[in-house]
Amino acid sequence: MPTTPFRFLVSVLVALLALALLKSPEIYWKLSMDPVIVVGGGLSGLSAAHSVLEHGGKVVLLDKKPALGGNSVKASSGINGAGTESQTRLNISDSPQNFYDDTLKSAGSEHARPNLITALTSNSAPAIEWLINNFGVDLSLVSMLGGHSTPRTHRGTGGAPGWAITSALMKRLAAEEAKSEKRANILKSAKVVKLLQTGDKVTGVEYEDGQGQKVKLAGSVVIATGGFGADFSPAGLIATHRADLMQLPTVNGDHATGDGHVLVTSLPSRSGVLIDMNQVQVHPTGFIDPAQPDAKTKFLAAEALRGVGGLLLKNDGSRFVDEMEKRDLVTAKMWEVIQNGQGPVRLVLGVQAATELKSHCDFYLSKGLMKKFANLQELAESMEVSLTDLHATFTSHKSYASGQEKDPFGKTHFHNSDINIEEPFLVALITPVVHYTMGGVLVDEQAHVLDASGKPIPGLYASGEVIGGVHGKNRLGGSSLLEAVVFGRIAGEMAARSQ
Ligand SMILES: Cc1cc2nc3c(=O)[nH]c(=O)nc-3n(C[C@H](O)[C@H](O)[C@H](O)COP(=O)(O)OP(=O)(O)OC[C@H]3O[C@@H](n4cnc5c(N)ncnc54)[C@H](O)[C@@H]3O)c2cc1C
Repeated sequence: MPTTPFRFLVSVLVALLALALLKSPEIYWKLSMDPVIVVGGGLSGLSAAHSVLEHGGKVVLLDKKPALGGNSVKASSGINGAGTESQTRLNISDSPQNFYDDTLKSAGSEHARPNLITALTSNSAPAIEWLINNFGVDLSLVSMLGGHSTPRTHRGTGGAPGWAITSALMKRLAAEEAKSEKRANILKSAKVVKLLQTGDKVTGVEYEDGQGQKVKLAGSVVIATGGFGADFSPAGLIATHRADLMQLPTVNGDHATGDGHVLVTSLPSRSGVLIDMNQVQVHPTGFIDPAQPDAKTKFLAAEALRGVGGLLLKNDGSRFVDEMEKRDLVTAKMWEVIQNGQGPVRLVLGVQAATELKSHCDFYLSKGLMKKFANLQELAESMEVSLTDLHATFTSHKSYASGQEKDPFGKTHFHNSDINIEEPFLVALITPVVHYTMGGVLVDEQAHVLDASGKPIPGLYASGEVIGGVHGKNRLGGSSLLEAVVFGRIAGEMAARSQ
């Protein structure tokens, strides 16, 4: 047995070491054995990786593609936050509770998971402030998307918000990797093909590098591989869970093949489970490119186009829906129109609405996805409808907006409805598209992957679109980038603490 003074000395040394560890994550890192392995370099994986670093761990981020970004870089409308400084500056009154209520309503009572919705909504403002303050992302503009009771979808004055946010996190991670202490490591063209398990605990991954070599890595694992909205293989996840959508086009990148769903459910010992897999969001507004109308992969017409006042018109020039309704409802109405032979459906923006989303519209025009008409007369001629009938659509909409009459489709939120018919119009042909997969890996609010009995699988976390149940049967626009950041941050912290 050591003597009493010796014991005292050991206690002092242990206390000093503990203090040093708390003050210096680098010391913690140097002593820790394994990194946290983040699978997927979209917004969620990047958020998880930064969170690992913030909590003193080291991280290896792998992506199967030669470039990071996933679907996150495509996001075009924005990211939700309730109770943010940007909202306060714009005199928008909102709270996490309002956001919770809207999300619960949209999710539907059968599918809603209050613990996950609480995590999403209560962490929303901190997530926005984190992006602004830690990464310098501009999120100063706030707009209102379908299904929200108030404006809460944030974006900046520059280009697409998904690119602005995700590229800021990418650049910072690359800078971390370049530092001499090497706490971050990024592996591109590295496809994870297997999770390693010792007993119940997930202890690492096996990946295939660019040369087809199989390599093993040890560490706890965050799965952030995105959804399965591009998995149209004959025995794939869409065929298995929503065969009725196999013929639809998609706006997903070809990486979105549900790899994480398969990895998590193929563990040799205790496996994860998938929930709500038949809940696939079909977005009402994919662009039909006149140059290739049958292309399987399409560009998304951002929901923000309807938020700023875009109208949806049948081939006779009349409206058929509240454009600010939730996506599932707008899509259902579009199907009715198309099946009744009243298509194609057009998305039409007056000049004020188009100016509010100028950088988006300039991009769509440059790609030939939108067409500019000099005035309403020119548009009426192209649609082969009478100018009087088309004009009536806009005058009635204006009178609904002013409150003189009630909109027959129940619209209550109007924007840029005072349209001058002598000014230009921007117009696109649109079609429903596979957009987002609400179903996925079962997790708790701390991003632990759960087994069939609801118990966490040690060493395994998941975040972003790969997780299921956050949005129930319908995701609100702007809530997926938020889910990527909120659950990515949680997963990174939990994984770093578990090392
Ligand atoms: C066109 C479009 C517009 C959108 N607009 C919005 C919007 O405005 N607001 C909003 O909130 N949401 C929007 N969404 C949804 C949102 O962009 C995504 O749900 C979100 O970005 C998903 O982030 P993620 O990090 O989970 O996945 P992703 O960004 O898709 O990243 C997943 C990454 O994992 C990698 N990966 C996959 N499998 C493996 C493997 N086996 N090994 C290694 N790496 C792997 C992929 O290569 C990819 O880089 C939009 C989606 C699309 C398609």
